[in-house]
Amino acid sequence: MKLLVTGGAGYVGSVCAARLVESGHEVVVLDDLSTGHADAVPDGARLVEAGIDDAIGDVLAEGYDGVLHFAAKSLVGESMQDPAKYWQGNVVTSLRLLDAMRGHGTPRLVFSSTAATYGEPEQVPIAETAPTRPTNTYGATKLAIDHAITSYAAAHGLAAVSLRYFNVAGAYGRFGERHGVETHLIPIVLQVASGRRERVQVYGDDWPTDDGTCVRDYIHVVDLADAHLRALEHAAAGEHRIYNLGNGLGFSVKQVVDACREVTGHPIPADVAPRRAGDPAVLVASSDKARTELGWKPERVDLAGIVRDAWDFTRSQQGA
Ligand code: UDP
Repeated sequence: MKLLVTGGAGYVGSVCAARLVESGHEVVVLDDLSTGHADAVPDGARLVEAGIDDAIGDVLAEGYDGVLHFAAKSLVGESMQDPAKYWQGNVVTSLRLLDAMRGHGTPRLVFSSTAATYGEPEQVPIAETAPTRPTNTYGATKLAIDHAITSYAAAHGLAAVSLRYFNVAGAYGRFGERHGVETHLIPIVLQVASGRRERVQVYGDDWPTDDGTCVRDYIHVVDLADAHLRALEHAAAGEHRIYNLGNGLGFSVKQVVDACREVTGHPIPADVAPRRAGDPAVLVASSDKARTELGWKPERVDLAGIVRDAWDFTRSQQGA
């Protein structure tokens, strides 16, 4: 297929673009490099360095079989302080994309949605039928886009799949996580191990969990990317399907820090800090629907293995 990957110079987008190229697809990456990196675009993919707002019409006019839409603003804290950036950058831009796809008859869309669309869960593991009550602007904007996609699929025959990611981690060779502002647990802990940060702060040890720290579902970025390839194959005209993607396994912040200590051999000093606003105690996915309908199964579920891949990537960046 000829595929457009928006945000293909970012973390998940670049891993996905690499796997698509390896699977024989023709891949064009559309990225304005505001947070992405040109050298993260895989060999064999063409980079169009431009924003969706400016370029999407001209690009889609070339004719595509589908779009994988990763480009987004994705910092939860920032989304609360500067909501306009998120409503504009995520919702308005995605509406432009949907309209351009309709105009040019682009038949398929795979969209990066998020577990943040659910908010505080009533039940764990979280299924796709759970109520969607986002507790931050980031999640609200992704949910709004999901609603728009549902309407476009019903009205215009778009074949659409939204994938709701839980905590994406790990790396794929030279493709990994390198954000200007890092807020995610595993990269932060690895920054301590690599000497770029002194200590890690554990946001609360009085949560109602076994060891008192928050529990999250860490999914390897390669497993996540592979779900996108399956989603492309299973997308059906006029339908918008939504799937949660996680391991179904929860690991606490303490377990993550311990796994990082074990993998890196660094003591990783940690301090307990106050809870972070908006953090639910436990977020674990039920991925039964993706397993049944997409035939997808996460293969890289071992936490130490996920951390090891991220650590290899961190060290390769330092040597770069
Ligand atoms: N966390 C932490 N210290 C940090 C960063 C994160 O204790 O420096 C915790 C955070 O409170 C959450 C978990 O680690 O419980 C995962 O956070 P992350 O930001 O990686 O992902 P989120 O679950 O918020 O999407």
